Amino acid sequence: MTRKEFFRYAWMVPAAPLLLQACAGGQSQTANTSDDPVTPDSLVVHAPPESFDTFEQSEQAWRDQLSDTAFHILREEGTERPYASPLLNEKREGTFICKGCNLPLFSSQTMYDSGTGWPSYWAPLAGVLGTKLDTKLLTPRTEYHCIRCEGHQGHVFEDGPDPTGLRYCNNGAALRFVPADEELPPLRT
Ligand SMILES: [Zn+2]
Repeated sequence: MTRKEFFRYAWMVPAAPLLLQACAGGQSQTANTSDDPVTPDSLVVHAPPESFDTFEQSEQAWRDQLSDTAFHILREEGTERPYASPLLNEKREGTFICKGCNLPLFSSQTMYDSGTGWPSYWAPLAGVLGTKLDTKLLTPRTEYHCIRCEGHQGHVFEDGPDPTGLRYCNNGAALRFVPADEELPPLRT
């Protein structure tokens, strides 16, 4: 995929106003495990930076940085085995960041147990993912990428819980978890 192709498909998902409107509806039956309702203000544990440059490096530099599994997922659009990720057991508050470039992608407050064996979220942080159609299987799927380094993260389906009805099915090996009481690492440059 060329950079031009990626950005043709790249659009911000979900649109922040839509998500905020959905959350404000208060009909949440999500995996929010605290007693507090999910509100727009509480949705983001670590906010993503307001602006950021794209991140590129050579294939060899990616291979040097990433494990074979993470390279396959992020740079070759691979998929890990189900139930392979230790992130499935992550119950702390915090943020899931792109293993390729450290961009924050998901808040723990949108994580839920989908029963699929992959870390699942009902929304990403606003403006950090781009999508494109994946036609590798018989049924086309929508895959999504980190908007900054174009690393492949997973696929989004329309069978998720309230308030969005979406399921972001993510490869755990493409993410790193940062607990809420730790500082986010700087974006890779
Ligand atoms: Zn990234």
